[in-house]
Amino acid sequence: MPGEAILRRQRVRESAARTYARSFPIVPVRAHGMTVEGADGRRYLDCLSGAGTLALGHNHPVVLDAIRRTLDSGAPLHLLDLATAEKDDFTTALLESLPAEFAAGARVQFCGPAGTDAVEAALKLMQTATGRRGTLAFTGAYHGMTAGALAVTGNVAVKEPLPSGGEVTRLPYPYSYRCPFGLGGEPGERMSEVYTQRLLDDPSGGVVRPAAMILEAVQGEGGAVPAPDGWLRAMRRITAERGIPLIVDEVQTGVGRTGAMWAIEHSGIVPDAMVLSKAIGGSLPLAVVVYREEYDGWRPGAHAGTFRGNTLAMAAGAATLRYVAANGLAERAGRLGELLIAELSALRAALPVIGEVRGRGLMIGVELVDPAGEMDACGALPADPRLAVRVREACLARGLIVELGGRHDAVLRLLPPLTVTDEQLRAVIDRLAEAIAAAAAPKDGGAR
Ligand code: PMP
Repeated sequence: MPGEAILRRQRVRESAARTYARSFPIVPVRAHGMTVEGADGRRYLDCLSGAGTLALGHNHPVVLDAIRRTLDSGAPLHLLDLATAEKDDFTTALLESLPAEFAAGARVQFCGPAGTDAVEAALKLMQTATGRRGTLAFTGAYHGMTAGALAVTGNVAVKEPLPSGGEVTRLPYPYSYRCPFGLGGEPGERMSEVYTQRLLDDPSGGVVRPAAMILEAVQGEGGAVPAPDGWLRAMRRITAERGIPLIVDEVQTGVGRTGAMWAIEHSGIVPDAMVLSKAIGGSLPLAVVVYREEYDGWRPGAHAGTFRGNTLAMAAGAATLRYVAANGLAERAGRLGELLIAELSALRAALPVIGEVRGRGLMIGVELVDPAGEMDACGALPADPRLAVRVREACLARGLIVELGGRHDAVLRLLPPLTVTDEQLRAVIDRLAEAIAAAAAPKDGGAR
């Protein structure tokens, strides 16, 4: 089969840490919008979108135009942190896209190209500004794989083999379906607020005043878990009252994904720093920290990196930011997200393996459970990661790329491009429903 030899060589030559390559043994040769074509000629609807990177899908004409124009102009492609017209224009587009109250007087640090680089930079920035070391971070959080970012990430399995990193105080994220307090809903959310506040104020609570709190407004890798707006406002109040800078990680939620240009707009909070990557580069690598200028206590060279000047990414990113804003794609994502949640929730009656459907905008999670298992205090059933793997395979067999995430990797995560058509969305729902039904169907006289 075409592509087989490439897959075989990848298996023997690349690291054992391969991830998506294991879940999707395909060799993409062409892609356009939401469609990816494999070397074997098969076509797939891509609900992974480069882990939420491709706001406009693959090879959008606006992105390709921006890249071609920049190439044809003869602009240098690599420039450390020197000034360029492309960077100037990207910075303008970025600041224009941010809430005015935050953008006014904000500073931008261009970082190494990945989200994790920007997380490291943000943590370091706040440590420098406050002279403190520790960080407050949440259960279920994902901030990246480098040392500092991994320290604030929640995933125990990836942290366990490594020496413990940094002074991190773990706080309970308001994940209603598997509430850390066994309460769920508003009582669980309220308890998280009270616990956070009391822990920070307890002179014997063991928490030395931290350099920052870092959070995601909607946890992505954590399983598409949106934080309630009221809870986010409470975290903003609690940190502001105690002089703790608040960093919001919008690496995955940014650029219209959640139904607003930036996820903080739903709650109206103004953070002290925002970490941005993925979609801001219009499918090319780019990462920045934007922060209030009062925290700009860095000396020249205090934070550096060779790859801070990716001209093509800046051109593609500026074009993407402007296209999303000009075409109301955030609002569209909000509407389509509500439709997706309603349609997928309606499947629960026939498919009791669907424990919960949740999310915000086009960042949707379908949590798969074992209906024969025992309910917890909140009425949640045990996660079914083995079923989730079978559903992912059944999706792929039906031409649908869907990745897993969340607790126990039992959450199907839907991250279609913001440009997904109504017809494509219908196909996603139909294929997903079919795949879940097929994977959940008892085989061989009932053994699953
Ligand atoms: N923060 C969040 C919220 C993310 O979702 C991710 C990536 N999934 C990262 C940080 C890390 O980004 P990268 O993989 O580019 O390092």
